[in-house]
Amino acid sequence: MPLSPEQLAEIEELRANPQPTLRAVSAGMEQHLYKPLEVLDHGFVRVIDYMGDDAAICQAARVSYGKGTKSVSNDEGLIRYLMRHWHSTPFEMCEIKLHVKLPVFVARQWIRHRTANVNEYSARYSILDREFYIPEPQHIAAQSVVNNQGRGEALTGEEAARVLEILKSDAARCYDHYEEMISQEDQQGLARELARMNLPANIYTQWYWKVDLHNLFHFLRLRADAHAQYEIRVYADAICNVVADWVPFAFKAFEDYRMGGATLSTKALDCVRRMLKGEDVSQENSGMSKGEWREFMGILEN
Ligand SMILES: Cc1cc2nc3c(=O)[nH]c(=O)nc-3n(C[C@H](O)[C@H](O)[C@H](O)COP(=O)(O)OP(=O)(O)OC[C@H]3O[C@@H](n4cnc5c(N)ncnc54)[C@H](O)[C@@H]3O)c2cc1C
Repeated sequence: MPLSPEQLAEIEELRANPQPTLRAVSAGMEQHLYKPLEVLDHGFVRVIDYMGDDAAICQAARVSYGKGTKSVSNDEGLIRYLMRHWHSTPFEMCEIKLHVKLPVFVARQWIRHRTANVNEYSARYSILDREFYIPEPQHIAAQSVVNNQGRGEALTGEEAARVLEILKSDAARCYDHYEEMISQEDQQGLARELARMNLPANIYTQWYWKVDLHNLFHFLRLRADAHAQYEIRVYADAICNVVADWVPFAFKAFEDYRMGGATLSTKALDCVRRMLKGEDVSQENSGMSKGEWREFMGILEN
């Protein structure tokens, strides 16, 4: 179960006691507060707290531009301008604090994003739950033949069944040994900080993760992308849905300029200009390597 009965009771209590506030409130975000969005088989993301809204981004930007912002009189236009010109600090005025439950191998990728504040469940102090990520059959896939860093077709038949069985039985066996080692029945019991080293990377951990909107967008740009591993992408997708409700103008600008947009090199831009003039442009006369050309075509033909 993603949330324990104690956590569910805590959510009910918090949602039953709204407090009046003079702070900026995002109506879209209020509906998400505390509620878990389920991810993978036992994971979740839930909003614990947030600061700011679209207006807070504009408020901060207007400090720097003063009267100059009069030319961009509406908030959406200003936010699009800021995003387009990489004027990022106004986006840092918004913050979000999430409670995330995720497999350890996903946490290892996530923690690489250094510009957040993290507090993780202590497996030195507490006993980890018997909860392991076991992929759905369609996500048990073979090594990709085109991308060394990825997966290809789903495994089928006897091989798929065998892999699934190995994942389940190894996790169960490791957890049985974990319990056996930490047990204090008729023995001293191994310290939790040592016993955990025998647990597999698909066991779940939990953390509070606080980040500002600029750095969250950077995280989402990398992790909600098709190149990111599926198991972290689903978390990023869930967060995207929250951010779209929290700061709708900023999220639309992010989708437009970052998620859906592309950066072109000088050579690629030159090729576009030559194509517009009707020239026959190919990889051979583009000045680009085969890999660059393939990615460039991917952008144009997408
Ligand atoms: C598809 C994919 C594949 C990956 N493969 C690998 C891999 O094979 N091996 C691997 O090790 N990693 C891998 N990574 C992780 C990747 O290299 C980054 O570490 C990760 O995406 C975090 O990005 P970041 O450093 O920009 O983010 P953050 O840590 O959030 O930093 C945001 C920005 O702040 C600045 N910054 C933060 N800290 C510093 C600092 N100390 N010094 C200077 N500038 C700083 C940088 O401009 C940085 O871009 C992969 C990531 C992706 C998305």
